Amino acid sequence: MSVQNEVVSHLRGALNSRVIVPGDKDYEQARTVFYGGIDRRPQAIVRAADPGDVARVILLARQTGLELAVRGGGHSFAGHSLSDGGIVLDLRELRDLQLDPGRRTAWAGGGLTAGAYTKAAGELGLATGFGDTGSVGIGGLTLGGGVGYLVRKYGLTIDQLLAAEVVTADGQLLRADEDEHPELFWAIRGGGGNFGVVTRFQFRLHEVPSIVGGMLILPATPPVIAGFIAAAEAAPEELSTIANIMPAPPMPMVPAEQHGQLVVFALLVCAGQADAGERALAPFRKLAAPIVDMLRPMTYPEVFVPEEGEYHPTAVARTMFVDTIDRSRAEEIVSRLEASDAPVRVAQLRALGGAMASVPAAATAFAHRASRIMVNLAAFYESPEEQVEREAWVSDFAASLQQRDQGVYVNFLGEASEAQVRTAYPGSTWDRLAAAKRRYDPTNLFRVNHNIPPASP
Ligand code: FAD
Repeated sequence: MSVQNEVVSHLRGALNSRVIVPGDKDYEQARTVFYGGIDRRPQAIVRAADPGDVARVILLARQTGLELAVRGGGHSFAGHSLSDGGIVLDLRELRDLQLDPGRRTAWAGGGLTAGAYTKAAGELGLATGFGDTGSVGIGGLTLGGGVGYLVRKYGLTIDQLLAAEVVTADGQLLRADEDEHPELFWAIRGGGGNFGVVTRFQFRLHEVPSIVGGMLILPATPPVIAGFIAAAEAAPEELSTIANIMPAPPMPMVPAEQHGQLVVFALLVCAGQADAGERALAPFRKLAAPIVDMLRPMTYPEVFVPEEGEYHPTAVARTMFVDTIDRSRAEEIVSRLEASDAPVRVAQLRALGGAMASVPAAATAFAHRASRIMVNLAAFYESPEEQVEREAWVSDFAASLQQRDQGVYVNFLGEASEAQVRTAYPGSTWDRLAAAKRRYDPTNLFRVNHNIPPASP
């Protein structure tokens, strides 16, 4: 029997979980991730049925030396939820959700999506803040930090994390919280999948019976862009915003003559009373005559834009933080976007602050608490030949906006060198993470991620 067959028959014999291998009818589907252009062929994909099987797969990977990738929602930009020739531990069956409205807490399986959680909690008028997209996994999103529509009101997703159940590299299932394994709890709040596989997360739920917000599309002139960011930073912390400066998509609510014109495509969420919400949104409506104004009272889950099932874009992107988007930076953004002919190109701006900034930088492994504005630059491309040109564009664009803040957000990093990963973990954060890595994963079994090697400092 070949080594490959031996591994597969061992897995099949030892696990309660489904094991999918090349040739199985759903193998191609099972190895598809959100981003296109990521073509890796694992020798086995295990749809883990329970934490016991998670531990068994971890131990098998250790014994055989096979590469182990862990898949949550499959949205990693770097394709970290796949392995070429190794084993994928696919957590999508771990999607149990227990909401406890009395205690305002929830236990959620490590393979659940943000959308499924948000919908179920929303039915009770409750919410935990994840990101802007329902199909993203709570696993990867939470472990990297989590910046979304409630960031200024309730902080990062990790600020709402109360505990986690983690299977570490030795196959043990540990509870990590402020009292038990506090260093592991610190490390998984920002340090990604480096320390183990989280089979369950316990989150705080907030009462969010309704919000005022939704979509606002404005013309993308430099004064509007700079004014938008100034208003977002001055807004009460109930209000979080995401402004995408991009060519207007051909959506039915966008007038045809605007299709392809640069716009500020913004999503806003004011998690407060209706009248306070209207007041908080007023400055944005005054920036220019809106092209589309769909701001209104709604439930929180309604703000999530419906997604297409089989959408797998290929893209190049840069993540960064900046201190300001003033008029001259806004001019730079407009001229860079105008100079590209990529069919989809975007400068996404998120004003931070509020509850996220009130947590001390050393309290979790996400240390960018003082960062003012998160920027994500991206260009989509269709053929591999285009990639070089798009890459140069995005990289020059990022250089033109770079300011004092040299940090990056790990969850928006693509394939990255150790030096780039370090910029996600400034100051003493890196050394503290490396120490936690030595304790919980000394052989670097969990290395298909933005890796923090256990090597001595
Ligand atoms: P995966 O590719 O499955 O996993 C990503 C990494 O996390 C891998 O290294 C994986 O091994 C590890 N991992 C996943 N689950 C677990 C687990 N349970 N235990 C241990 N390790 C695990 N981020 C934001 O903060 N805010 C946003 O608004 C936001 N919007 C996004 C929108 C889109 C369309 C996309 C593609 C990404 C967005 N992101 C956002 C980034 C997102 O948070 C990261 O891509 C994140 O890593 C995705 O998690 P995942 O579980 O879906 O991905």
